[in-house]
Amino acid sequence: MEQIILIKYGELTTKKANRNLFIKTLYDNILEKLQDYQVKITKDRVRMFIETKDNIDDIVNILSNIPGIHSIVVAVKVDTNIEEIKKTTLDIAKKINFKTFKVETKRSNKEFPIHSMEFNQVIGSILLKNIPNIKVDVRNPEYLLKIEIREKYTYIYQKEKGGLGGYPIGVAGKGLLMLSGGIDSPVAGYLAMKRGIKIECIYFESPPHTSINAKNKVKKLVSKLNNYQSNITLHVINFTKIQEAIYQNINPNYMITIMRRMMYRISTLVAQKNNCLAIINGESVGQVASQTLTSMQVINNVTNYPIIRPLACYDKLDIINISKKIDTYETSILPYEDCCTIFLPKHPVINPNLDKAIAYEKNINYEELIQEAINNMENIKITNNQEKFKL
Ligand code: ATP
Ligand code: MG
Repeated sequence: MEQIILIKYGELTTKKANRNLFIKTLYDNILEKLQDYQVKITKDRVRMFIETKDNIDDIVNILSNIPGIHSIVVAVKVDTNIEEIKKTTLDIAKKINFKTFKVETKRSNKEFPIHSMEFNQVIGSILLKNIPNIKVDVRNPEYLLKIEIREKYTYIYQKEKGGLGGYPIGVAGKGLLMLSGGIDSPVAGYLAMKRGIKIECIYFESPPHTSINAKNKVKKLVSKLNNYQSNITLHVINFTKIQEAIYQNINPNYMITIMRRMMYRISTLVAQKNNCLAIINGESVGQVASQTLTSMQVINNVTNYPIIRPLACYDKLDIINISKKIDTYETSILPYEDCCTIFLPKHPVINPNLDKAIAYEKNINYEELIQEAINNMENIKITNNQEKFKL
């Protein structure tokens, strides 16, 4: 029996032009993810079909991490021919152990002479006649047999595996993810990707105060996010001089506020330079002093770029659950320092004042320092080879 993978699209937009973009982008993303496999992919407005001689389970696993897919089905493909459908259906059912069943036919080929309801009965009675001790249960069947009758071929299947849903990565354009080594930001990146945003990442390091291990940890996190989007670019900013200038010249209570204003300024410039339409980060309201609404307002004031905070209203426990699901948690909790945690003041303001922040900032020649940091930026393309970042 010839097996085929059938893909049902995720949350499709109803606009026609968007639908085409959605399908084309999903198609390209799937092709890229399956580049090491021998596959033939065909698509139409409601389904995508993947034929392969390679291991189907491996391919299904990869597909289940691709945003924009509602569900994945492994089906048996037959010609749209009544006798053939009957015979194959019976062959399949005989191999399955069940007591109750239901047949669900979907007839998108209106030329097919038997209506869906009637065909359910035709197939149902064949099974009842040929398999002992089974009966129909339309409410809660053990075996739900689905038959999809299309133009040339008919697909017979049982289980549907849920996909990630969301939109194909890229349909929403590009965004710059502020990626630290913590738990939150990789989760924020994942949620943004699921909304169709293609990401690049920016990481601020402060060597020698932050170590090479801290940087490798971030690279490893990027390689985990590569499960969803291939070949993510990581921009590394050397933040040492700016942090030292802040440490030496700024009222300790405002150090974090000013440091984050600098991060936002640099992120905005890097986003512009790389055609990113928004900045994404892992801030969550109330989590720490720099994430009160007042702090966010004072920090956000340096940019008019949209700042997307997918976790703004998430509880930490929910964030942790997602980070476990996307397999970033174990890496995130490795104990390497982040540039935010060094030079940490004892009493960071939770309600900073914008005028004060601006006044304090005048103590440092930040524009020059920012330019220098951007000129020295390191751009790394992280490919799927995670071995390099063993920690
Ligand atoms: P995370 O768990 O992601 O580290 P957090 O709760 O520790 O977040 P902060 O350290 O205040 O929070 O940082 C808030 C957000 O700012 C992070 O989620 C991340 O998006 C960004 N950020 C913090 N430090 C860095 C860094 N060194 N490089 C890039 N982005 C950073
Ligand atoms: Mg952090």
